[in-house]
Amino acid sequence: MTLDVTWALQWVRRSAEVVAEHRVELIELDRQIGDGDHGENLHRGFTAVVSRLDGLETPPTEVGEVLKVVATTLMSTVGGAAGPLYGTAYLRAAKVTGLTELGSDAVVALLEAGLEGVVARGKATTGEKTMVDAWSPAVAAAQEAAARGDSPLEVLDAAAVAAEAGAVATDPMVATKGRASYLGERSAGHRDPGAASSALLLRAAHEAAAE
Ligand code: ADP
Ligand code: MG
Ligand code: MG
Repeated sequence: MTLDVTWALQWVRRSAEVVAEHRVELIELDRQIGDGDHGENLHRGFTAVVSRLDGLETPPTEVGEVLKVVATTLMSTVGGAAGPLYGTAYLRAAKVTGLTELGSDAVVALLEAGLEGVVARGKATTGEKTMVDAWSPAVAAAQEAAARGDSPLEVLDAAAVAAEAGAVATDPMVATKGRASYLGERSAGHRDPGAASSALLLRAAHEAAAE
């Protein structure tokens, strides 16, 4: 499908589904190196996003409107570290997507803005075992894909593949940001829950576009 408001709404629905499907897995990951609430936090957040969007009197007409609802709802319902981080990511992404239909460059801009939001809020860089380790390679892969002339769908696939590899690559890392950093060296040997959920959300964006 074209990457318009229908895609954005489908992305949200698919996100809510994958978060529900992986809720326990994300809880388990966060139990290893955090406080075990990441899956529940996101599940609560995306459930609220879907009901907010379903309850709107005037349906959104642009991608940016949908992403703004995601941002504000996640900020007010998710809590913890991930709420403000994801909230800022979606808010920044919303601002660059005022268009009615996204081409490959606009997809790249959306992802770049999301990463900038996470970094602006959390001040992490790559290698610190956070969601930045999924977002950063995703952005780089999307940029490369767009530069070689790939379609928006292919750009989203490249981003998701890179985010999935990025999440796996957090396994041996020692956390130096967020709650997992309290464990120091003992944080190594576990996947970062936020990197794992970021990969799921980016895969959901691709799946929504592939329908
Ligand atoms: P909390 O740690 O407050 O319980 P969550 O469990 O919902 O919050 O989210 C934890 C995730 O947040 C981590 O796995 C990590 O990916 C992400 N995170 C934490 N701090 C930062 C940061 N400073 N920058 C980027 N991501 C971070
Ligand atoms: Mg947690
Ligand atoms: Mg918590």
